[in-house]
Amino acid sequence: MTDVPPASLETIAVSRLRAVVTVFGTVLVVVAEFMLLAYVYDRVAPVSRDQVVIASLAGRLHSTAPSVTAGEIRDAVNRLDGSGVPEAHLAAARSAAGTYDPADPSTASALQSSVDRLGQDLAQRHRTLDDEAKFAYVALLVIASFGWMIWFRRLVARHRDLQAELTEQQTSLVGEQRLAALIRNSGDVVAVCDADSTISFVTPSVRRILGFGVDEFVGTRFTSIVHPDDLDVCLHLLASPGAGAEVDVMLRVKHSAGRTLYVEGTLSNRLADPAVGGLVLTLRDVTARRDMEERLKFQAFHDSLTGMANRQLFGDRLEHALVLRPGGPAELVVLFCDLDDFKSVNDTLGHGTGDQVLIEAGNRLRSVVRGGDTAARLGGDEFAVLMESTDLDAARRIAERMQAVLEQPFQIDGREVTVGASIGLAHAVTGEVTAEVALRNADVAMYMAKDRGKSAIAVYEAQLHSEAMQRLELRADLQRALTRSELVLHYQPTIDLVTTEIVGFEALVRWQHPTLGLLGPDKFIPMAEETGLIVPLGAWVLREACIAAADMQRPELSPKMSVNVSSQQLSEPGFVEQVTELLAETQLPSELLVLEITETVVLRDLDAVTPRLTALRDLGVRIAIDDFGTGYSSLAYLTQLPIDLLKVDKSFVDHVTTNAQAASLAEAIIALSHSMKFTTVAEGIEESAQADWLRGLNCAYGQGYLWSRPVPLSDARTLLNAQRQGKRVA
Ligand code: C2E
Ligand code: CA
Ligand code: CA
Repeated sequence: MTDVPPASLETIAVSRLRAVVTVFGTVLVVVAEFMLLAYVYDRVAPVSRDQVVIASLAGRLHSTAPSVTAGEIRDAVNRLDGSGVPEAHLAAARSAAGTYDPADPSTASALQSSVDRLGQDLAQRHRTLDDEAKFAYVALLVIASFGWMIWFRRLVARHRDLQAELTEQQTSLVGEQRLAALIRNSGDVVAVCDADSTISFVTPSVRRILGFGVDEFVGTRFTSIVHPDDLDVCLHLLASPGAGAEVDVMLRVKHSAGRTLYVEGTLSNRLADPAVGGLVLTLRDVTARRDMEERLKFQAFHDSLTGMANRQLFGDRLEHALVLRPGGPAELVVLFCDLDDFKSVNDTLGHGTGDQVLIEAGNRLRSVVRGGDTAARLGGDEFAVLMESTDLDAARRIAERMQAVLEQPFQIDGREVTVGASIGLAHAVTGEVTAEVALRNADVAMYMAKDRGKSAIAVYEAQLHSEAMQRLELRADLQRALTRSELVLHYQPTIDLVTTEIVGFEALVRWQHPTLGLLGPDKFIPMAEETGLIVPLGAWVLREACIAAADMQRPELSPKMSVNVSSQQLSEPGFVEQVTELLAETQLPSELLVLEITETVVLRDLDAVTPRLTALRDLGVRIAIDDFGTGYSSLAYLTQLPIDLLKVDKSFVDHVTTNAQAASLAEAIIALSHSMKFTTVAEGIEESAQADWLRGLNCAYGQGYLWSRPVPLSDARTLLNAQRQGKRVA
């Protein structure tokens, strides 16, 4: 407040002078007004005096004894010269005075009237002067008032402007002082340097952030503390902002203690600004934030167990490597490694041990991989390595070393665990295949290695497109089929042989393969069983089928739903609970669900299967033995099992009308089924003669192309609706 700039002092002096002049002017106007009044009074006063003289003369003339002399009259008239009374009236008065004889009444009356006229003239003159004076006075007053008012207003306005100007100046001054204080005490480092980065000014915060004292820092080049890898970027930044422009800065710099910091801020070019005259650099330490970001990024692209690249990062790297570009690799090899018998480690020694094995396997794998190559854990016990600029021979050598290190026993919690590894290699020429195909080829090769017996190395060969290869490709694809919803269910009706009405459906799975079209279960169910994929696949089928069955229920018709269950599914822990939950969820009455199990499955592990089937039976679910007659020759087991239905295999039905021996065998099977109180279902009925023959043996139900092939859900519904409207299927 005290440091008002001198420029404004001058302005204030001028303004004071103006105020003085204004007051002085006002006084002048008042004085002028008085002088004018005095002047007007001066002009009116003699007229009043003359009026008095003339009036007394006139009075004396009119008295009964006039005592006025001619000389007196003449003197009085002479005094009126120049008083504004008409000359003619004065002349007349003078001549009347000349002829005046106090004794002659006629002369007296002539004089009387002349003097009276002079009195009237004076009165008239008095009035005129009076009016003029009033007018002059009012005019002066008006002019003075207006002038004064305008003057005053200008004065007030000027004063106000000045006040505003002063306030503004003071505000900006305070602002500048505050800014300076802010910069001094800022958390950021604010530095001014010249174009070659020599520091001329820096805020004290440089000690806290960069560890240097102000004196120590001023005079040095900023580039001397920039990380060597960021030096080019920094030099480019120093040269980049045009006059007045600002650029963002993100650099690594060295703290005085030697550690690297990430700093972020701006660089603005104030070289042309006389108040600054340099490049202004503001920097703050963002090391903690960067570290956190790095950590998050690492988590998103790395496997949390082994710290290796995850599937996502591996895919990105592979994709990037496969793009044809100058300086990029011309060829590469993808290695796919799957631990042998890892599942049994998990199952017998527990997941903790399994995890330790995976961590150690990852470490061993990395020890073999060359720097620059990417080793990843894709999930479970699957690992992959991307080897850039590598030919197959070199890759094979690495794979052999990998296998050697992985075969060494693992020491975990004092226990020795041994796993092997099956490795697949796929060579790719940059620009020719996609990342997905390259990885899948390696995956296929890995399956080939497994097929050759464990701990083998196999190389994917595109020209060797044998049936076996296709199968392997398919196996690799099947993993993705589930997640990509490529599986569909078709439904084949079960027919009451007497009424030919639909009593239920069997759900049969198909795979809508993206390139091979609709695949039947024989193309992929065995594969799903080999790989264990049958478990999630079967769960999906069961769920889909129950939802469809629940949806088909009507008061007048309750079709059953048969679902095929594989041995692995049945032996999964929690299978009975899964079925229980599904029935509750879909509200499907349990007696409408039929689980079909093949004879061989049941016989393989009778002791384990029996309690499960009993539990399912207790839920109300029906159990069917599928493909009956194709398995075991002994039938004794059948009596021990909770079975409701027998499905007689198509191979028995095929020849019943053409071959007597086949007919008698089928007849025996149906009789056996009846004797055990099972409901009998005949499969694969294609001709009405076969249906007639079976009907003759009191076989209850049939299934076959004669009535319908397995059809999509919408067609199955159409069949049901037709039946509801009284039409038979056949
Ligand atoms: P399956 O359980 O014996 O099913 C009957 C098979 O016979 C079906 O073949 C059906 O289309 C076929 N079929 C029915 N009637 C006739 C006919 O009149 N003539 C001829 N030639 N064939 C007939 P699909 O659908 O190809 O299924 C084959 C096998 O795949 C099934 O045999 C079953 O074992 C298995 N499967 C199908 N879906 C599933 C499933 O969801 N889970 C499991 N685990 N296995 C399934
Ligand atoms: Ca079946
Ligand atoms: Ca069957």
